[in-house]
Amino acid sequence: MKHRIVVLGAGYAGAFAAGNLARRLSPADTEITVVNAVPDFVERMRLHQLAIGQDLAFRKLADVFAGTGVRLRLARVTGVDPERRTVAVTGEDGDGELAYDTLLYALGSSVAHHGVPGVAEYAFDVTGRSSALRLRERLAGLGEGGTVLVVGEGLTGIETATEFAESRPDLSVALAARGELGAWLSPKARRHLRQAFDRLGITVHEHTGIEAVEPTRAIAADGTSIPADVTVWSAGFAVHPIAAASGLEVAETGQIVVDRTMRSVSHPDVYAAGDCAYAIGENGRPLPMSCASAGYTNMQATAAIIARLTGSKVPTTGLKYHGNHISLGRRDAIFQMVDGDARSKSWYLGGRTAARLKSGVLKGAGWGIAHPTFGMPKRKRRLATAPDRAGVKVAA
Ligand SMILES: Cc1cc2nc3c(=O)[nH]c(=O)nc-3n(C[C@H](O)[C@H](O)[C@H](O)COP(=O)(O)OP(=O)(O)OC[C@H]3O[C@@H](n4cnc5c(N)ncnc54)[C@H](O)[C@@H]3O)c2cc1C
Repeated sequence: MKHRIVVLGAGYAGAFAAGNLARRLSPADTEITVVNAVPDFVERMRLHQLAIGQDLAFRKLADVFAGTGVRLRLARVTGVDPERRTVAVTGEDGDGELAYDTLLYALGSSVAHHGVPGVAEYAFDVTGRSSALRLRERLAGLGEGGTVLVVGEGLTGIETATEFAESRPDLSVALAARGELGAWLSPKARRHLRQAFDRLGITVHEHTGIEAVEPTRAIAADGTSIPADVTVWSAGFAVHPIAAASGLEVAETGQIVVDRTMRSVSHPDVYAAGDCAYAIGENGRPLPMSCASAGYTNMQATAAIIARLTGSKVPTTGLKYHGNHISLGRRDAIFQMVDGDARSKSWYLGGRTAARLKSGVLKGAGWGIAHPTFGMPKRKRRLATAPDRAGVKVAA
């Protein structure tokens, strides 16, 4: 019987990982299945662009994995039973169950409501394709002078507010920041950010925690009412509750607690990568939820899975946090490096060069997903326990 590897989620972490596993492991003794809720690869890093009306082409996952040997199962994961080593799914064919020998959990994240009243009912977000499309429709129907309030001064909030203001100068765009805008940036980068907000005419409400959202306004902690035909909630990401409900050890955030090799500390057949992994980076801090972390964690997880199955030494791959690359519309961006303590270095790159670099990063990530088995080695690795290789021990 073949060793069944099931990858949950075909986002940046899961799609890369499935391709990497198919590239290195022999199909003679492994079977790789990817489960994803939607048929396309969704470039989450571009969803604010989609929301403001830009046309983006999404790749079909069936095309991405064609000819790679990876099986694609289009279904929604509803549960994981790590004791029975099964995954519960529901899809067009109804409810079903998938059995695994090794599981890679990479279901990503979605919007974090933080229990704020009115957010679920009235606010929009750009964290998933369906919510970004709902926002796109609402914005398309918003006439000149319409008010848009983006809540949250994190990377997604900044990218969303600047993208919207640049693409729709007819709208009145504002951002509510709990603290100060760009407080974590180096002084020069922060100045750059503020100048970009001024140039794009974005109003900034600093020290303004939003405590309620209503259909046409948001209410701040001090009672201030901010008019908003559309409130876009960008106050962080939250992971799906599936991992916590399954009995896997999770952190307070609901992310799966993993060791240095991305293996669950409670269930050794389970690995996690991307936003849903609570992984400690080389600086001793949890890696931030980001595309870069999705890259590092899936590389480490696949390297560990392959090494353990083929009976070789588990390699240690990099788990770094270099910094952030923030787009400010299509023509401007900030690339801010951080030091070993995750503090911004004084150097930053800004302007058109940074924007071009960011565009290259996005294209590169998309290209990598579209070519999952690029660089396929001529000889794929056999499992240490394959029937014709009996007696070889699988590494612990
Ligand atoms: C607007 C926006 C801009 C961003 N910009 C940047 C940026 O510039 N740089 C950066 O580093 N990061 C950025 N991010 C963050 C980055 O997109 C995420 O950190 C990254 O997508 C995480 O990758 P992942 O594979 O863990 O999750 P995802 O990419 O979210 O993939 C998860 C996959 O799982 C699938 N899935 C989810 N639930 C289920 C289920 N129950 N059943 C089946 N399938 C399911 C989803 O359909 C998806 O395919 C941005 C995010 C947003 C929303």
